[in-house]
Parts: sequence; C-alpha cells; structure tokens
Amino acid sequence: MAEPVELPSRLAILPFRNKVLLPGAIIRIRCTSHNSVKLVEQELWQKEEKGIIGILPVRDAAETTSVGPIFSSGADSVDGISKPQAGASDPHKLDGKNQQEVIHWHTRGVAARALHLSRGVEKPSGRVTYTVVLEGLCRFFVQELSNRQSYYTARISPLEMTKTEMEQVEQDSEFISLSRHFKATSMELVSLLEQKQKSGGRTKILLETLPVHKLADIFVASFEISFEEQLAMLDSVDVKVRLSKATELVDRHLQSIRVAEKITQKVEGQLSKTQKEFFLRQQMRAIKEELGDNDDDEDDLASLEKKMQSADMPSDTWKHAQRELRRLKKMQPQQPGYSSSRVYLELLADLPWQKASEECELDLKAARERLDSDHYGLVKVKQRIIEYLAVRKLKPEAKGPVLCFVGPPGVGKTSLASSIAAALGRKFMRISLGGVKDEADIRGHRRTYIGSMPGRLIDGLKRVGVCNPVMLLDEIDKTGTDVRGDPASALLEVLDPEQNKTFNDHYLNVPFDLSKVVFVATANRMKPIPPPLLDRMEVIELPGYTPEEKLRIAMRHLIPRVLDQHGLSSEFLQFPEEMVKLVIQRYTREAGVRNLERNLSSLARATAVLVAEQEHSMPISKSVNNLGSPLMESRIADSSDVEMEVIPMGVTGNELSNTYTISSPYIVNETMLEKVLGPPKFDDKETAERVVTPGVSVGLVWTAFGGQVQFVEATGMAGKGDLHLTGQLGDVIKESAQIALTWVRARATELKLVTADDINLLDGRDIHIHFPAGAVPKDGPSAGVTLVTSLVSLFSQRCVRSDTAMTGEMTLRGLVLPVGGIKDKVLAAHRHGIKRIILPHRNAKDLAEIPSPVLSSMEIFLAKRMEDVLEQAFEGGCPWRQHSKL
Ligand code: ADP
Repeated sequence: MAEPVELPSRLAILPFRNKVLLPGAIIRIRCTSHNSVKLVEQELWQKEEKGIIGILPVRDAAETTSVGPIFSSGADSVDGISKPQAGASDPHKLDGKNQQEVIHWHTRGVAARALHLSRGVEKPSGRVTYTVVLEGLCRFFVQELSNRQSYYTARISPLEMTKTEMEQVEQDSEFISLSRHFKATSMELVSLLEQKQKSGGRTKILLETLPVHKLADIFVASFEISFEEQLAMLDSVDVKVRLSKATELVDRHLQSIRVAEKITQKVEGQLSKTQKEFFLRQQMRAIKEELGDNDDDEDDLASLEKKMQSADMPSDTWKHAQRELRRLKKMQPQQPGYSSSRVYLELLADLPWQKASEECELDLKAARERLDSDHYGLVKVKQRIIEYLAVRKLKPEAKGPVLCFVGPPGVGKTSLASSIAAALGRKFMRISLGGVKDEADIRGHRRTYIGSMPGRLIDGLKRVGVCNPVMLLDEIDKTGTDVRGDPASALLEVLDPEQNKTFNDHYLNVPFDLSKVVFVATANRMKPIPPPLLDRMEVIELPGYTPEEKLRIAMRHLIPRVLDQHGLSSEFLQFPEEMVKLVIQRYTREAGVRNLERNLSSLARATAVLVAEQEHSMPISKSVNNLGSPLMESRIADSSDVEMEVIPMGVTGNELSNTYTISSPYIVNETMLEKVLGPPKFDDKETAERVVTPGVSVGLVWTAFGGQVQFVEATGMAGKGDLHLTGQLGDVIKESAQIALTWVRARATELKLVTADDINLLDGRDIHIHFPAGAVPKDGPSAGVTLVTSLVSLFSQRCVRSDTAMTGEMTLRGLVLPVGGIKDKVLAAHRHGIKRIILPHRNAKDLAEIPSPVLSSMEIFLAKRMEDVLEQAFEGGCPWRQHSKL
C-alpha cells in the first residue's frame, strides 16, 4: 500500500455519485448497471493481473439528468454508495454533451485497485452483476474525458507529490508541527475508541508506520463526513493543507464522541438512580402495608386540591396553581423541593382571594358611640375618623387617603385603628414595621431562596383570612433602608390605590389584590417618614394628654379594664381620684398613658394577691361548694385556710370576684402606692433642684416620646479658650452652641459680663456645655435660646429661674425663630410642674392647640429677640437691661 503506484496515462472511469473514495480507503461496491458492468468486465474481470481504474466523484446536480447523464440514481444502490446505471445514457450522443457533462464531474479523482472481484449469477434476462472490493491508491487529475466505449475513459495525470518533493516538505517546520499535532489528535481518538471497543491495536500500529499524509486520508475516510468535506479532502493535494484539514476533522470526531459519551453516562446514571429509588420505594410501600401504615400522601394532595378549588382564585392564578400542583404530584415526598412546593400551594389555597367579611351597613351614629366609648377626649381626631367613615359610606369604592396617626407612644393610636375596624365591622390586623430594613419583609423572598417566605402583608392576610381587613401598618416611621433594599418603596406600592390591585409578592409570584384592604398607619414622628410615603397619607396628630385628661382616661377606661383583667371589681379595689393623680404626677411622666396603665395594673396585681389570700373570704361559687369530698369538708370545718387550695381547681383569675367576697374593698392610698410602686420617681422639685447653680437653663425639646424637658449645663474652667460639647449632639445643635457663644461674646459688654476694655470672655478659659441624659442622641436648632441663657447665666454668675423653660432657634443677630412641636413641649413642661414658658413670638398661633386648663395654669412669654428671652429667664429681668437702667 505504501509503495508509489505507476499510473497509466489513460484510465477507465467509474463515477461515484455524491461519494468520494480517498486514497488508502477500501470500499465494496456492487455493479448492476450496463455501463459499470461493462467497465468491470473489460477493465478488471478479463485482465490477467488486477487492473487499475479511476474513481471520479459526480455531483448530484439536476442538470446532469436533464442532459441525459450517463449516470443517474437507480434502484441498484449498493453498500451505501451511488451506483452507476446505464439505461438513460446514449453513448452516441455523449460526445456532443461532453463539455456540459464534465462541468458536473469532479476534475480530480482517485485511482483504485480491485482487491477482490466476484461475479453474480446471470439473470434470466442475461444481465450479470459484479461485486468489487476497491482500494484507493492515489489522486489524479482528469485532463480529458471521453466515452467512445460504453463507459468513460479519461486522460489523466498523477497529482501526488514525488519522492523528492515529499522529502523537501518533510524538512518544513510547519509540516513537522502540523503532523505532530495531527498524530497527537489521532492518537487521542484511537485511545478513546480503544477504551470503548477494546480494540484498535492495529490502528495504533498504522499510526506508527504510515507516513502522515497517507494517514490523514485513511483517518478521514473512516468518518462520516459530508460530500463537500470529502471533496475538499480530495482536493487537498498540498500535504500541509491536507494535514490541517484532517486534524480539524479528527478533532471534531473526537469531540462528538466525547459529548455522546457524556450524555450516555448521564442517562445511565440517572436511570440507575431512579430505578434504585423506585425499587426502594416499592419495598417501603410493601413494608408500610405489612405494618398497616397507610400512605396518606395522596389523600393529602387530594384534600389540598379541594382546598385550592374552594379558594376562589382568579383564573390566571388558578392555572398557575394547577401547574404547580401537577408538578407536585409527579414528585416523591422525599424529593427536594416537594415540601417547599407544597407549602407554597397551601399558601395559595389559604389566601383570602375573594373571601371578605360581610360589610354591614355602616351606622355612623353607632360608630361615633363606639369611638366615644373606647376613647376619652380626642374630639378632633374622632371627628376626622367619622368624616372618613362617612365618605366610605357614601362612596365605598372611593380611594380616600390612608389615615396616619402620629404621636408619642401610648396615646391611643393602635386602639383608635381597632375602633375603626370595629365600626366598619371588619377584621383587624396589625403589622409591625418597626426595624424593618429588608424589602423582602414587605414583599417576600423569591422562591428560589432556601427558606423563602411571603412578606408580612401576605402572611398577615393569610392569618386574618379575609381580603378586606383594616390593616394597621404600625410604626411606619421606623422602617430603614440598607443594602437589602428599601421597604418604604415597597410600601409605596402597597398604599397606592392604582398599584395595589396587583400587589406582587416575590414569594407568591402572582398578583394579589390589596385594594379592598383599609390601611391605617401609625408613627411616632413625621420627620423620618419618606416624603413620597407621607404624600399618600393623611396625618392626624395625637400630641399627648394633659394630667387632667389622663385622670379622666384612667377613671373611665383604664381602671375598669385593669380591674377586669385581674379578676377584680370595685368591690375589691377602689382607686380614689386623688391617688390616681398621684400616680400620674409621681410615677409617670409620659405623653401617653401606657405607663399609667402599667402602674395601675401593678396595683391591681398586688390587690389580687391580697384578695386571694384574704382570711375571711368565703367560697360561694357552686364549683367550690360542689367539691364535697369528705377530706375537703373536714378541712373546711377545720380551718378557713383550706380555701386557698380550692382556687386553682377550675377557678380562673377573672372568676375570682365570683368566688370570693370580702368584707370591705381595698382602697388605694399613699402607703399602698409606695409599697407597690416604690418611692415616687418624679416630683415638681426636680427643676428647682437642678437649677441651683449658674450655668444651668431649662429647655424644651421634642422627641419620639413627645415633648421633653431638656436641661443645658455650662461650666467654665482654666484652659485655652476651647468650647467642649457633650451629650451625643448632632451637627445642628453643635452649630447652635457656636452661635450662642459668639452672640454672648459679641454682646459681653452690653450684658455687663466684662468691663469695656476686656471683652474676651474666653481668655484663659475653656467652656464646656453638656446636655444631660448623655446617652440619648439630640439634634435640632430649637435649643438656641436655652444655650444662650445658660452661657449668660454662667458668665454673669446668676441662676436662671427654675420655674421657667424655653424653646426657640436663634440667629447670629439674636432674632428668635419659631420651632415645631409647641403643643408637645408645653405639655411636657406642664408635666414637670413648670409654670412659665418662653416661646418664639411667631409660635403664638400654635397656642390655640393647647388645652385651656394647661394654658391657664401657665404663664407664656413670647419673645422676638434674644434679649426678650433673657429678660424673662432671670429673676429681676435681663442683666443687660439692668445695666442700661443704671
Ligand atoms: P399607641 O398605639 O399610641 O402606642 P395604644 O393605642 O396602644 O397606644 O394605647 C395604649 C393604651 O392606652 C391602650 O390600652 C388604650 O386603650 C389606652 N388609651 C390611649 N388613649 C386613650 C383614650 N383617649 N381613651 C381611652 N383609652 C386610651
């Protein structure tokens, strides 16, 4: 095979249709057509030694047949190659058509030697067939094609390189690297095939012995490649081109085998795994049956499906749910994803898609009565709620603003919202937003996350079970923003009537209609609420109660409730008004009534113990009387102490009053207050005690807990003229301190703080200003006037009046500017027992909001300039005026 072949100058041509025989390839063909049989007979069969013929590829073009081609497709295909067929051909016409036909013939072919020949049995028609095994030898070029005989012959010239040419190429470095690459790739392919088929040893030997340019042909001939690629290979007379083409083809073949291998492995792996699982499951089922354990998984799914059907989902959601259910049914319970899919479907089935509390005809009078009976005072707030309800009654579908109650803790925001729900006859649910920083808390996590959950809204709706509850978004000012998104923006969507029809919870992944929910929000302060959110809400402020209001609330609402909660009644415990006042004054100093309620509860608890321990109490309830065991009877006869043991037996706390009678009720007195609540926590003397040294002034500030009294302390010491500020201060308040100091220094002479020739107050002195309650952060401009007052007090060594508190921003020129939260601040001062308040002149309008009992018990001074403040802050007026009077 390796020896060069001497080609004759003329060769008989056997056309191959859409197929190429490459040198080195061996092929078996069956010749049935007249022309090919003739060719084989004359060129191979009748010759002594085995002859050589030329194999020429023919393109399967339509024109070939239309011009009466010599070869056309016929039924006599053999061994997968195209077979020549006579029939249509007319040898005498061929000459004239030659030119046209040659166009469709390839001009390069391969000379082939017959390795084996066999003649078929003669048919009755006289036709014979031959089967020939051919081996491709070398390429040739067709110079001229003719069909003088019944088959084609061609004048040819050889195309393969001569030995010397070959030797030259072998020196070429490009050729060397190409052949190395080709050999490596081929070796890889052979090894892979060897692994698969446990054969290939012979191919390996071939690889080692044959010259690469021949190997290239042989390798390529063994793959299934397209006719075009075969032709390209045949045309690669240049060995370098041939090698790179062959490398490419071998590599492609290698990759395709690898991919196929991978796929098979995977499929096999899966198959065996599922088969294994199947068998194990079968076994488990058999074991369960044996044990009598019924597999109720399927029942479960059926009941889930029933629940889903009755959930009344919108049609799109229903389709989605069904798809998920089908998926679930195909899963095994042990499979990952089964339980999460199930929990998800349970949620879909549980959500109140259409289920709503029946909306009763709204009775405004009843609603008003309800609000009045639940809450004392709050006239304006209740009026606004009634207006809101009236609009809803007239136009139920109207998308009114969301009510937002803003005020310090314990002023009744939550209980007002629940009264709205009661008035509307709807269910009430509360979602606490305090500290929510993750958007997913509102919107849920996508189901792709492990442990994903729906957001708080959807979860709340599932729990409440109706789609039209009153939903309280509690502490909406406490949501924060961090890397996990912005909950406020999700809330925006919730509160927007245009968008909340299709609220999209990430976990739910199907829209849910929130438009029927009545939203009410609460906040302690307005400032932290993001403006777009605030824009969607109507703010109703609840500033806090005066002591008188607190007393009324306590007497009418808190005490009856506290007594009831502790199983007591006025027969057991009485709270005289005087004592409740003392609790308000001495034990609470808050804007709301939460601590007051807590303290009253403590008193009730203590009394409950006393009642339960009462020596003279008599069991009167039937349940106790019926416990007529001999032992019990003897004990009752023995001693009344026995009754103690009876209490836990079927008698709960709030049945206490039915069970016991006592001779006279306990009446709360001062001794009891001190015993139960401890020594008084607050008194009116605090301010007086703290403002005993120069440098201390009393300010009023506004915090999340409502108004507060804020002391400012200033002191001077030897130093380099620095200003120290402490008490967790923000930038604004620090700047206020700078302004205050500058103002005081600039007016030192007028204020008679220094003599005219020495105006530097700070010479050799440091000033330290501290805001007590050092752990509480403070900021804002409203401490301006207080700071100046404390500095003037320090430098002039005169005490500020202890009964006077002040608030107001000050400009560098000494003008007093208005500040916010006046009502809260005045109430706070009132709680502290402060009698005089200095306010900015432009805050005069805010005084209208202050309850008249508070206002009438106080002296309010309105200041336009800092001098006015100082005039009122010091006993005997402003030091400056004093000075000028002199
Ligand atoms: P908030 O939500 O503002 O912090 P709550 O609504 O929880 O306060 O109120 C605390 C307690 O005070 C509740 O028991 C509430 O009933 C009671 N309360 C507050 N204000 C009033 C009022 N005006 N009349 C009757 N009870 C009140």
